[in-house]
Amino acid sequence: MVHVKRLELSRFKSFGQTTQIPLLPGFTVVSGPNGSGKSNILDALLFALGLASSRGMRAERLPDLVNNSRNNGKGRAETTVKVTFELDDETEWSVARRLRVTKEGSYASTFYINDETCTQSQLHEQLRELRIYPEGYNVVLQGDVTRIISMNGRERREIIDELAGVAEFDRKIAKAKET
Ligand code: ATP
Ligand code: MG
Repeated sequence: MVHVKRLELSRFKSFGQTTQIPLLPGFTVVSGPNGSGKSNILDALLFALGLASSRGMRAERLPDLVNNSRNNGKGRAETTVKVTFELDDETEWSVARRLRVTKEGSYASTFYINDETCTQSQLHEQLRELRIYPEGYNVVLQGDVTRIISMNGRERREIIDELAGVAEFDRKIAKAKET
């Protein structure tokens, strides 16, 4: 089965120094004190997979994802996260994302597949082929369970539609009706 083999974080949230996190197939547990950066690792994974919503990575704005320890508000700040997968044939395949923030506060992301730049939609397309969905419910964040419990029936049904893949067709139908 495809699995995440390695994460490389550079100036992402609490990771001020470039950090490599090797992962083995199967079940992985990350433990550590409160605020030590456990959830930030998952945020980094979603970031590299091209998640658009900063909220989904528990940040108000995307620039808040850049480590703020030695920037002093001067010059360009940036963060890069690379995720290396091991595919079924044991070859490596990687996606990466770099976010650059100028001192004026504007920002832009660059995406990479196997270290070559690509567009965000190319990235999403390739990930879809591997059945990896950054917006999907394969990632359950802190607070998600409580949120799902307190949903009404219709909202919970939407999750099931999403998981079953029906929602994708609903979106396509809605789009076709628009045009
Ligand atoms: P808990 O056990 O409470 O869930 P955790 O290990 O999951 O904790 P995280 O939420 O991953 O902790 O990390 C929170 C820490 O990340 C906070 O100390 C916060 O200051 C730090 N942090 C978040 N964004 C940045 C940033 N841009 N620069 C530096 N540190 C940051
Ligand atoms: Mg946490």
